[in-house]
Amino acid sequence: MPRRILTINSGSSSLKYSVYEIGETETCLLSGKLDNLHLESRDAAIARFIDDLHKQNSLAGVTAIGYRIVHGGMHHVEPERLTPQFLSELRDLSTLAPDHLPDQILAIEALSKHAPELTGVACFDTAFHRTMPRVAQLYGLTRELADQGIVRYGFHGLSYSYLVQELQRQNALPARAIIAHLGNGASMAAVRDGKSVDTSMGLTPTGGFMMSTRSGDLDPGVVLHLIRQKQMTPDAVNELVAKKAGLKGLSGISSDMRELESKAATDPRAAEAIDVFCYQVRKFVGSYFAVLGGLDLLVFSGGIGENSPLIRSRICEGLSALGIAIDPAANRANAPVVSQPNSTAAVRVLPTNEELMIARYTNQLLA
Ligand code: AMP
Repeated sequence: MPRRILTINSGSSSLKYSVYEIGETETCLLSGKLDNLHLESRDAAIARFIDDLHKQNSLAGVTAIGYRIVHGGMHHVEPERLTPQFLSELRDLSTLAPDHLPDQILAIEALSKHAPELTGVACFDTAFHRTMPRVAQLYGLTRELADQGIVRYGFHGLSYSYLVQELQRQNALPARAIIAHLGNGASMAAVRDGKSVDTSMGLTPTGGFMMSTRSGDLDPGVVLHLIRQKQMTPDAVNELVAKKAGLKGLSGISSDMRELESKAATDPRAAEAIDVFCYQVRKFVGSYFAVLGGLDLLVFSGGIGENSPLIRSRICEGLSALGIAIDPAANRANAPVVSQPNSTAAVRVLPTNEELMIARYTNQLLA
């Protein structure tokens, strides 16, 4: 029997949803987004959302809700059925992801209240990276802090899982792959034999390379300087590094790559923000080449990775020593393979689908 699943991917101000039917085939029956959730009570907005879905008959046959949960900490890896006990553990984990988990917990509570007949399943965005070796997880801090869970977790796991499964399905996943998920949030994973061995984001999704509004990795001294010398509160520093930095902060124009590309020829600030982004991403490609001991495949995904020939070619500039050679015509066309036939490492463009991955995991758990 095919199963119909509502997927929920909730962020700080918006909630993406879809209804999938998963059986012999996988069909997306519906998808959409609720915006401006911070403007009113989340509970009321979600009550109305469920009511609307019922009125449109969109929940007919739906038996489960799959949730993207940003952080599973050290102990939550496999998808899990939601229980009151699990929710209280999730509340304890909120200190690891204070910008994301509280909103997701509120969404779960509201949906459990307004659609109690649906079985809830949690799918963790950190899970894909729990295969990373300990050397890739540890920060150069202390054993005590590592034991308390202050380690690299990594995110975008649902996206990476989907991309790995899709590459496997296409028989296109070699041993040593680097996958770059470049969207508003952006990260990279070094993948050996389909498993994550390193990733750019860390304890939180603010780490790694620069993103649309997040700073990426910083010298820890920078944070201390902001607190001590600039008298910024921890909340103000967080607001800066998570929401006002990255492409937005450096350009002073926009967090949106498409908009920056359109202004780069006339505004040096836009050009410079793009330069820094591509430079930082390229450095991660180089370091993961070292981690993997070579490279067979580089994959671009996410809104920027899937749609921007300019950014892909700029990232790959000067990487011929790593066996990466872009085919300009294929790249301009956003073709599935954008490398030249003689490129040692294939370079692919592959659209991601986190929602489908949530539906697959939810279906598997309930099967
Ligand atoms: P995502 O978070 O995956 O939806 O990605 C959003 C980012 O993708 C934004 O910065 C968009 O400007 C960027 N993006 C989408 N389409 C294009 C495009 N054709 N060229 C450049 N950037 C794009």
